Amino acid sequence: MTRTRRALAALALALLSAACGKEGSPPVKGPEPEALPVYRVDTSFRLPDSPTWNRAKQRGYLVVGAKEDQPYLGEKDPATGVYSGFDIEIARMTAASLGFDPATVRFRTIASANRETAIQNGQIDYYVGTYTINDNRKKLVGFAGPYYMAGQSLLVRTDENDIDGPQDLAGRTVCSAAGSTPYQRIEADYPQAVLVAYDTYSICVDNLLTFQVDAVTTDDTILLGYAAKAPDELKVVGKPFSQEPYGIGVPRSDNALRFAVDDALEANEKDGDWKKAYDATLGLSGVPAPRPPAIDRYPAS
Ligand code: GLU
Repeated sequence: MTRTRRALAALALALLSAACGKEGSPPVKGPEPEALPVYRVDTSFRLPDSPTWNRAKQRGYLVVGAKEDQPYLGEKDPATGVYSGFDIEIARMTAASLGFDPATVRFRTIASANRETAIQNGQIDYYVGTYTINDNRKKLVGFAGPYYMAGQSLLVRTDENDIDGPQDLAGRTVCSAAGSTPYQRIEADYPQAVLVAYDTYSICVDNLLTFQVDAVTTDDTILLGYAAKAPDELKVVGKPFSQEPYGIGVPRSDNALRFAVDDALEANEKDGDWKKAYDATLGLSGVPAPRPPAIDRYPAS
């Protein structure tokens, strides 16, 4: 092993043990609590037409599906079990508008490939985790939003000079999450690439750091977070080559819930909480707050 390889392998181990919460691992850097908005809970809110809302009200708290290994988006502190990030704030602000105290929201980690089933089975009330709205998924679940527009990109090691876009992936190994739109796009449009799938992007990143794969592909938001945490080892290259509008996944037949979450997003975008939440979380990976995309209130079907 060369010196860089040894250093990278050591870093991968450090990241892995951080994920496992071992002693001596660096703390997970999250948003500063005082920079986060304080959401006003709408205690008089009622949504009798929504079976999901009624069930949650009876239970006394919301159960929200999320990611736990995506820096600045959805991260779980291994020591405390507390979730943080932009998606987590989106979940908390919409919860407050629906009449639930954001501090009581229970998050459940659900991988990309399992989101539709988790929503359909009622394992979660809704899902907030870099979830692209598209027509295929709309056959299975409903989407409030979009609340952010991401784009597919590539993450490589800083010593890589031959990959600058998906056209350079022929014969190279590229890793993505099973069931994700970036995985599907490489499979369909770049068949010369050697595709590898895992449940999560953090496993892909560990494989990149240890020279098992040549690149990781998913949304720029996610990749910029990993690069920001290991700037000497990792870089995001090229331009985004897709549009990934992020939605909140709800049960397909619960239109009342979908429209209520649309209203909640719109209200939080108007009163400045969306931007404040962005600046305190995803903004930390280096991209200034864009204007949120227009909410797509598509008709019930
Ligand atoms: N936004 C893409 C998707 O929904 C990739 C990110 C993810 O897997 O969560 O498939």
